[in-house]
Amino acid sequence: MKLILLGPPGAGKGTQAKRLYDKHKLVQLSTGDMLRAEVASGSELGRQAKQVMEAGQLVSDEIVIGIIDHRIDAPDCKSGFVLDGFPRTEKQAVALDEMLRKKGGKIDGVIELAVDEAALVERISGRFTCAKCGAGYHDKFQQPKKAGVCDVCGGTEFTRRKDDNAETVKARLVAYRQQTAPILPYYKAKGLLHRVDGMAGLDQVTKEIEAVLSRIKS
Ligand code: AMP
Repeated sequence: MKLILLGPPGAGKGTQAKRLYDKHKLVQLSTGDMLRAEVASGSELGRQAKQVMEAGQLVSDEIVIGIIDHRIDAPDCKSGFVLDGFPRTEKQAVALDEMLRKKGGKIDGVIELAVDEAALVERISGRFTCAKCGAGYHDKFQQPKKAGVCDVCGGTEFTRRKDDNAETVKARLVAYRQQTAPILPYYKAKGLLHRVDGMAGLDQVTKEIEAVLSRIKS
């Protein structure tokens, strides 16, 4: 199955994509994670992307389309994947359809995590991640069980994303509103769009996504 999780930054796409991998082995394809890995490696692409990301703007369509086109050819994507943070513009959405068509596939469903924008700055600015295994936490909503120790791997170092500050989050929300939200009607017209209440608790959101998957499969 090939899915897209759509929603503004902080809607919970990454968290739910990880759960979809745990339950269904659908590989999480996060263009944000891929770009951060490029930045960390110091590659030419990473150098180009760094400033744009830190300003909360979108990296060029050509770059992200190229990254995804290459990534979905990898063997681990054969049994299905969840796109998290891609597509983010209409150009990317059209390019995705075209590349899948050439590879003999298609998107099975698009799940919109609908959230109240007012809650997002708080959600995002409290996020942190285990530096060793990448498990996600939140100052207010999801602290590790033992303070300073990762529940999953026992790691004691945590990182915060540079673009998770209030000012950059506002720019990222503007980018979502102006460039990404307009692709919702594109998928609605294709009959692929499913709306889930992203303001519900994590487990409830997972349950609603599972219900959507059952509907898609039937
Ligand atoms: P994310 O981790 O999805 O919040 O993405 C972090 C940042 O990476 C975004 O604010 C953009 O600068 C960049 N980015 C990630 N995915 C895309 C995309 N599909 N198109 C353009 N820029 C992207």
